Parts: sequence; structure tokens; C-alpha cells
Amino acid sequence: MMKPLGFCERCGKFEGSCKCGRGRIVINGKKRELVSKFLSGLLRHFPHSFGLKVDEEGWARLEDVERIVRERHGVGRREIELIAEFDPKGRFEIRDGRIRARYGHSIKVEVDWSEGSDIPSVLYHGTHPKNVESILKEGLRPMRRREVHLSETIGDAIEVGRRYHPNPAVLAIDAEKMLKDGLKVRKKGKVYTTDYVPPEYIKRII
Ligand SMILES: [Zn+2]
Repeated sequence: MMKPLGFCERCGKFEGSCKCGRGRIVINGKKRELVSKFLSGLLRHFPHSFGLKVDEEGWARLEDVERIVRERHGVGRREIELIAEFDPKGRFEIRDGRIRARYGHSIKVEVDWSEGSDIPSVLYHGTHPKNVESILKEGLRPMRRREVHLSETIGDAIEVGRRYHPNPAVLAIDAEKMLKDGLKVRKKGKVYTTDYVPPEYIKRII
């Protein structure tokens, strides 16, 4: 679990708790973790799903990112700046009213998928947010004895998830590792299917 982030009149921005003990928490650890993941996914992997423009060097306008993050998670500029500044892996950079991920982009990798093997290295699953906890614990099981359906893009997964909830959760499935470990993933038209995804291959990204 990540530590909370906050601001103190005397000590300035802080992680955990400030020296004088009077600082105010701006974002708690759980929320920080969720927004960090979303922000990193948004800037590295799925800007287009949210209509976000990212230039060749990975920069997006901070106000555009802020609008998307606020809509999605109800937090704003101050939280984003704290998350960027205290990111333990230094993933984010903010400069001149713009923000980018410093590394780890897959926007171009996604293009390569269509030219490479049949199964993308990562697949996605959109679902009702209330299902997430049990899925992360027990894995992704087919409903009513049918196969588990996975999507090729985050945009598709969001679309599928919206059948169940206006703000669906999206899970990333490590299909590459599943195949490596001998589990089967099938391509059926535009959809990918499997019998069961154990929890170790699943991460919540939205
Ligand atoms: Zn303080």
C-alpha cells in the first residue's frame, strides 16, 4: 500500500506525515495507488480511449489530463502534482503545464501486435466495479459455463464493461505469461477467450 500524500503550511508537500504533525492529507494511500495506476495507463497505454492527445515525446496538456482524472476519480491538479512528484519509480514528469510518463509507453507496441503473433501480450476485461475484489482474489471465471471473454483494447473493454456499469472497471490480463505458463487463449474474431484466468495474471488498471 502506498503512503498518503499531503500538504502542510509549515513543511510543504509531504509523503506519509509531515515533521510538525499539522499537515493535512490531500490523498490517502489507497486512492493514490488507484489514481497513479490510472495516470500511468492513461499516459502510456490508452490516451486515445479518453480522447487525450499525446505528442511524439509523450506530453499531454495537464488541464486535459486533469479533466479526465477528475471525471474518473474526483481528484484534481493538486493530487496529480503530488502523485507525480512523489512517484517512487519516477514515472511522471510535469513541465510547462504539460505532463508525461517518462518511460514504459506501449502506444507503439500496440501497433506491433497486429503484425506479430495472434494473441496480444496483454488483453483486457471490462466489468462492474463491485466484481473486482472477488476477481482479484479468485480469478476470472466464465459466467454460466461459457468462456471468459477478453478484449484486445482498453477501449473495447470499457465498451463491454459499460453494459454493466456506466463507469466500468478494466482489468489487464497478462496473456503472454498465460501462454508461456501453458494456459490457453483463443482468438475468435475480434474477441479473445479463455476458460479461466487465475488471479496472478490479473491487474486492475481502471
Ligand atoms: Zn508540518
